[in-house]
Amino acid sequence: MNSGTSGKLLALIPKSGRRRFLTSLGTGLRQCIPKVLPLGCLLVALSGSACFILHRELPSRSFRSMGGLATVTLGSAHADRIEPVTAQVQGIFDRLEQELSTYRADSTISQLADQAGVAPIAVSDDAFRVLSLARHFGELSEGAFDVTVAPLVNLYGFGKPPTPAALPSEEVIRAQLKLVDYSRLILKDGTAFLPLKGMAVDLGGIAKGYAVDRAFDSCRSAGIQNFLIDLSGNIRVSGRPQWGEDWQIGVRDPFDRSRIIGKITLRSGMALATSGNYERFVEMGGQRYSHIINPKTGYPVTGTAGVTVLAQDATTADGMSTPFFVVGLKGADKLRQKAPSVDVLFVPDKYPTEIWLTPGLAKAFVPLPEYSKAVKLLYP
Ligand code: ADP
Ligand code: MG
Repeated sequence: MNSGTSGKLLALIPKSGRRRFLTSLGTGLRQCIPKVLPLGCLLVALSGSACFILHRELPSRSFRSMGGLATVTLGSAHADRIEPVTAQVQGIFDRLEQELSTYRADSTISQLADQAGVAPIAVSDDAFRVLSLARHFGELSEGAFDVTVAPLVNLYGFGKPPTPAALPSEEVIRAQLKLVDYSRLILKDGTAFLPLKGMAVDLGGIAKGYAVDRAFDSCRSAGIQNFLIDLSGNIRVSGRPQWGEDWQIGVRDPFDRSRIIGKITLRSGMALATSGNYERFVEMGGQRYSHIINPKTGYPVTGTAGVTVLAQDATTADGMSTPFFVVGLKGADKLRQKAPSVDVLFVPDKYPTEIWLTPGLAKAFVPLPEYSKAVKLLYP
């Protein structure tokens, strides 16, 4: 599988690394830093993911979990708590990875696939909750989000290699499509069941957001007020980085990964997630295909380069970014009517760059000056 970077890297760069970091960015971004950021603000975060943190140096730790890089950043007032808080968050992510990953043969999700067509299995409270939420986003999006998409994900080699040399035939895709239907996932009394042999779930479109919310709750319960949790670009914040400042998140330019298109100010409690076609993709027949599949057609989605969703929690941001990516700009209005509390930023996969924003994001987003003319309002 190809990847646009060395994975979805998220790294807060310490002060000593700042010069190297700035050098590694494209000139476009370097030039725009003074214009984008408040005076005296340092850009200390580099991430391979679609969103990354723009901030003054703050206590921060990164570690790998759930197939990506996680970063915990605390407001300056909590500097002495960074080690125990990071350990607590890492414990939550690692435990959820063990239960929810399709890559682990012993995970609940792998057992669910093994027992498909055989018998229901008992699942943990977290697995039950995340599967129920996945079904909910399936219903909300009329199947654009489909947690049973795993047979198609595997067909293209996203779950497990190999990737076929050419796009599979319609017949092959149709056969896999018969195994994809979120409404057939049966959740009852703490058990889960997939009725057809060959069915499987893939929580890749929601599990990281869910994990961020669990970490968010545990930090608040531990009395931490000011923090940012980032798991592969699924970001949720609480409070403020410092007195008088807001959390600021950069949105990566899908067409030039060394740049950002602008920044989003994130209010306390809010979350962001991005689905993009430029970080995980495969090549078949000389064409690039994104890792997001349209469950109606069985084909990888085209037409959108990136979708960023702003929501009141990270599960919703993650769970909605995938279906917005599937329905594209054309279907966004209908989907948003079902979830009016979320805001969306669309970058279509075309040149010149366009940035479409719903009103709530239009208030929170500041484009780089060179993109100010690219910004368009979606459903004013
Ligand atoms: P990322 O993986 O970059 O965070 P997303 O949150 O959009 O991006 O999740 C994409 C993942 O979701 C894919 O890698 C796959 O595991 C899964 N997936 C792909 N298509 C769908 C779909 N239509 N509905 C639900 N999950 C999907
Ligand atoms: Mg998602």
